[in-house]
Amino acid sequence: MERNNSRAEELLRGLKAGASPGLLEEALLLPDEDFLMFHNEAREVCLCEKGKAVQLRAIIEFSNCCRRQCCYCGLRSENRQLTRFRMEKSEIAATALEAAQAGYKTVILQSAEDPWYTAEKLAEIVEAVAALGVVVTLSVGERKAEDYRVWKEAGATRYLLKHETSDPGLFRALHPCGTLDKRLDCLRELRSLGYEVGSGFMIGLPGQTPVSIANDILLLGELGCEMAGIGPFVPSPDTPLKDAREGSPELTRRAIALTRILYPRMALPATTALSVIAPEVRNAVFDAGADVIMKTVTPNRFRQYYAIYPAPGVGTTVIASDRLKLEGMIRSLDRIPI
Ligand code: SAM
Repeated sequence: MERNNSRAEELLRGLKAGASPGLLEEALLLPDEDFLMFHNEAREVCLCEKGKAVQLRAIIEFSNCCRRQCCYCGLRSENRQLTRFRMEKSEIAATALEAAQAGYKTVILQSAEDPWYTAEKLAEIVEAVAALGVVVTLSVGERKAEDYRVWKEAGATRYLLKHETSDPGLFRALHPCGTLDKRLDCLRELRSLGYEVGSGFMIGLPGQTPVSIANDILLLGELGCEMAGIGPFVPSPDTPLKDAREGSPELTRRAIALTRILYPRMALPATTALSVIAPEVRNAVFDAGADVIMKTVTPNRFRQYYAIYPAPGVGTTVIASDRLKLEGMIRSLDRIPI
């Protein structure tokens, strides 16, 4: 026990001096009692860099029509069980207005990979939402560099596109429709266009190893990400991975803590996937480095169809009162919602 503790201290010092896959892998696999000092360190780093603030961000999921076949995702094109929807510009803008009036300063426009929204169509939507005075974040998948440029000019300032896994073989196995190289090219292109870029990855993908999670964490730094969504894999019915085991909430919390220690300024959300399988751990990640939470404000009539994975409580939303409840939850953790 004593020996492990001193090894944990050595590891923490080593990571702060310069991370490597080996050190990260060893830290990820420490016994719980030894990892505690990493959680504490992550909390301290977060408080020191960001204070007690937790950013609340609204997410509008505006289309579930997808051209891809990601093996883990309920929106994949081969899922014929899902009712598909697309929101019109006027409804997206009205929803964004309601979110802004409720106090959200950032609106994330997310969709499945849906080319029906041409560069021009989506640019008009971005303009309408940016005109409300909110920060517009896009998350619509892999597109041409020219599309990304048009949306940047229209007023989008951030872009979320997770690399999902840094293991090229695993990426290929899970994405019959793409390669890790292509995904990384998109992320680099977004950065060179001046977007604040968010990437991220899943924990517990079938075939994933601890060293690949270590590489995921390091890749965030290599890409120069400003944000990283790290969430557990949640098995989704009507997908090839429906019978796979879900990702470990504790391993997710560890990955978030290590990411915070390595990248003190990065925005790290407590992900929705984590709240689906372990709401108590979702709250505990705020004590281990997380400083952002995203809240869906998608209109009620569409929400159940944005079924990436089964999410309990997809009930009726009232944007303003939901935000008040979320603020209360954040305050109950001794943090300040902004
Ligand atoms: N089309 C955009 C994209 O690909 O970035 C955004 C939509 S995509 C559905 C949003 C995220 O959902 C993905 O980045 C992926 O990490 C996550 N996701 C999909 N299926 C999941 C699952 N079964 N468990 C956990 N997260 C999942």
